[in-house]
Amino acid sequence: MSAASEKHSIPLVDVSINVVTPKAPVKARVVATRLATASKKAAGFVRHVEFDVSGTPLAGKATAGQSFGIIPPGHDAAGKPHKVRLYSLASPTRGEDGAGNVVSTTVKRLIDEHTENHHLYLGVCSNYVCNLNVGDEVMMTGPSGKRFVLPKDASAYNYVFISTGTGIAPFRGLTLDLIAQGLKSKVALLSGSPYASDLLYDEMFTKIAGEHSSFRYLTALSRERQADGNGKLYVDARLETNKDELLPLLQADNTLIYLCGLAGMEEGVYTRLVNLLSPSQLEKYLKLTSEQVEMIRGGNKEPLKRVERSERVMVEVY
Ligand SMILES: Cc1cc2nc3c(=O)[nH]c(=O)nc-3n(C[C@H](O)[C@H](O)[C@H](O)COP(=O)(O)OP(=O)(O)OC[C@H]3O[C@@H](n4cnc5c(N)ncnc54)[C@H](O)[C@@H]3O)c2cc1C
Repeated sequence: MSAASEKHSIPLVDVSINVVTPKAPVKARVVATRLATASKKAAGFVRHVEFDVSGTPLAGKATAGQSFGIIPPGHDAAGKPHKVRLYSLASPTRGEDGAGNVVSTTVKRLIDEHTENHHLYLGVCSNYVCNLNVGDEVMMTGPSGKRFVLPKDASAYNYVFISTGTGIAPFRGLTLDLIAQGLKSKVALLSGSPYASDLLYDEMFTKIAGEHSSFRYLTALSRERQADGNGKLYVDARLETNKDELLPLLQADNTLIYLCGLAGMEEGVYTRLVNLLSPSQLEKYLKLTSEQVEMIRGGNKEPLKRVERSERVMVEVY
């Protein structure tokens, strides 16, 4: 799935990129680490971790929606130093401290089984970061990414933010940036998790929705029933269950869709758009022929594998 190649007509905020490269990473110090899940009994282990980058070239350089890199200590199985891993900024552009000196992210411990046997496999960097204590130092790079940020004229647009798991991280920063600008846009944040206990920053987003009528927060639980009576839902299903309120937003000419999280989420969201929107509304997001639209509506997802997105769809999946 690729982004449209035409010239950009929605100018995005200017960002700094690769100020610090993996060849010369800088030291950042952990200043906070806490659970990011709604409950200690969550199925996954996810932490919100904050790093002080003051005095380094990274200070004041990261924009909400970008990522930074962490290089875990030690060597891989081939004896080479571990490579950099990217983590989305969960902090707003002004940082957690209001001065761009403290950046944060949302890290999920990767816990798996070895492919060659059934022994426990612990992801190298995610577990390293989740194990860190306040005061520990890490090697950091970045920032990276320039297409998953807000437009320059952010208040001229509405937003549909759709996340799965730690894909919520950039939406924390982007939402806080929009609020700092007075939240003149309509925003719908759709957050997908397996269970209610795994929802990330749930308290914060519930509070924001309570304080701002233009901010709608919808959750989707894939392994248990919803509090609103719906059964198990993947996050894309919220576009259908809540279409009365979301369709007008998607149909508006100034709405941008941002997707972040599991790589598989694109197909589900695009299928919903194909099924919900008229051809003239759909083409504002996805470039599909009428034959392809019919194929998708008939259950054949093949055309979605190479679908071109318009500039109104921003994607960060991993
Ligand atoms: C732009 C971007 C933003 C991202 N943002 C975030 C974020 O905000 N939060 C977040 O948590 N993650 C994020 N990620 C993912 C993150 O970069 C890492 O990929 C993730 O934390 C896993 O890294 P790791 O070192 O723990 O796992 P690794 O040790 O690198 O393992 C990675 C994969 O390889 C498999 N694997 C490797 N070796 C073996 C083996 N011997 N046996 C079995 N399986 C094996 C693992 O199961 C896993 O699927 C982002 C990625 C990108 C590209």
